[in-house]
Amino acid sequence: MRCILIILDGLGDRGQDCFDGKTPLYAGYTPHLDHLASLGMNGLYHTLMQGIPMSSETAHFIIFGYDLRDFPGRGFIEAIGEGVEVKKNDVAILCHLSSVQRVDDNLILRYGCPDLSSEHAKILKGAIQSYESDGIRINLVHSKKIHGFLILNGKVSSSITDSDPIYEGRPVMEVMPIKQEGAGTVSVKTAEALNRYLIWCHQKLSAHHMNKERTTSKLLPINALVTQRAGGKRQLQPFRDKWGLRGLSISSGAIYWGLCEELGMDVVKVKDTGNIEEDLKYRLRYARDAHDYNFIHVHTKMPDEAGHTKNPWYKKEVIEAIDRAMSVAVNEIIPDREILLVVSADHSTASSGGMIHTGETVPLTMVGKYVRRDEVGHFNEIACAKGSLGIMKGKELMYMILNFLDMAKMQGLMDTQIDQPYYPGHFNPLNFKKYG
Ligand SMILES: [Zn+2]
Repeated sequence: MRCILIILDGLGDRGQDCFDGKTPLYAGYTPHLDHLASLGMNGLYHTLMQGIPMSSETAHFIIFGYDLRDFPGRGFIEAIGEGVEVKKNDVAILCHLSSVQRVDDNLILRYGCPDLSSEHAKILKGAIQSYESDGIRINLVHSKKIHGFLILNGKVSSSITDSDPIYEGRPVMEVMPIKQEGAGTVSVKTAEALNRYLIWCHQKLSAHHMNKERTTSKLLPINALVTQRAGGKRQLQPFRDKWGLRGLSISSGAIYWGLCEELGMDVVKVKDTGNIEEDLKYRLRYARDAHDYNFIHVHTKMPDEAGHTKNPWYKKEVIEAIDRAMSVAVNEIIPDREILLVVSADHSTASSGGMIHTGETVPLTMVGKYVRRDEVGHFNEIACAKGSLGIMKGKELMYMILNFLDMAKMQGLMDTQIDQPYYPGHFNPLNFKKYG
C-alpha cells in the first residue's frame, strides 16, 4: 500500500464574526472534502499541544515523525532548500532588509517588509556582504528581493535569539544566547558578533547613496538588516530508515524542499502559478502516478497565505478552489484501494486577530481500506471533532499511517537491533557460511 498525505497549509482557523462564529472552512462550500470525510475516519490533530501556534517547518518536522529537540532550525533548512551551501559547523540565519529609525540608542522598526526589487536589494546587500569579528565570519547571501541568509562560520552556535521585532513600532532586539543546558561561551560570542554586525549594517546602509536618494525622494530609507531563526546541520536518521517508507514531497517552498531533502526524501519542486485549483490537481495526479514511493507528501501553501491576508472571505474562496481540486482525490485516487489518503494541515492560520499562526487543532481525515468509517459527513474543525480518531497529537499521525498501511510492528517483536516502528525491518537472515 501507499500513503498520500495532503497537507493544506494553515487550513485551521478561528470562529469568525462574519461567518457567525464558523471558520472559513466550515462556512465554505466543500463537497469533495466532505465526501472524503464521509468515507473516512475523522478527528482533530495538533502536532504538539493545543494552544501552541506552530510554524510550518516545526509542524512538518513532527508530522514526519521527528522530535522537536532535533530540529535543525529554519535558517538552515530554508538555506539548503534554496541551494545555499551550509557546511557542517556553520550557522544559517534568515535575514531581511527593513526600514528603521534611530531613537536614542535603539532602532525602531518603521517598515518591516519594504517593497524593493531584487536588483536594488542586491545593491544594498552588496554593501554589507561580509564582516568579521572576533574570529567569526559573517556572509550575507541574497535570496529573493529583500530576503537573504547570513552564513556564519568560525566557532559559532545556532543557540541565539532573533533580532527581528516583526511588529512595526517595536525596537530591533539585541541577539542573546538562548538559555539552555550546555550553552556556553560560543553562543555568547556568536550573539555578540551578530549584534556588532547589525549595528555596522545600519551605519553602512544609512550612508549608502541609494538611501540618500530615497530620502530626497521622500521614501523611507532601507537602513537595517534584521534576523530570525538560526539553524545548523544536525545528524538525523533518514526518513526511510526511521519509518520504513520511501518518501516523496511534492511541494512549492524552499523550507519543504530543504527539510525533505535533509530527511533523505525525494522532492518534486513545483511552482505556484496563481491557479490554485490547477496547481493542486497537478500535484494530486503526480502523487497518484508516483508508484515508486509509498509515502507521498502533497502540499499547498495557499490556505496559509490566505489566512495571512486577515480576510476570512478570501480564505473561504481559496478553500473552495482547493476543494474543486480535491475532485481528483475523490475520482482518481481513493478508488485505488491500495492507497491510504490522509488530509490534514500543519497548523491553524487565523484570518483575524494579531497573531501570525494560532494554536487550535486542525481537522484530519483518513480514507483507506482498513480505516473505521465513522459518522462524520463534513470536513471542518467542528464536524471532525465528532469523529472516531479523537484528538491526535504529534508522532501519532505517522504511527497511524503505518498502522493503516498494514506495516506497524507489534510491540515486543525484535527483528532488528533498533526498535523501529515498522515490520519487517532490515534484518539479517541466519547464514550457514557464518555459523554452520
Ligand atoms: Zn504552515
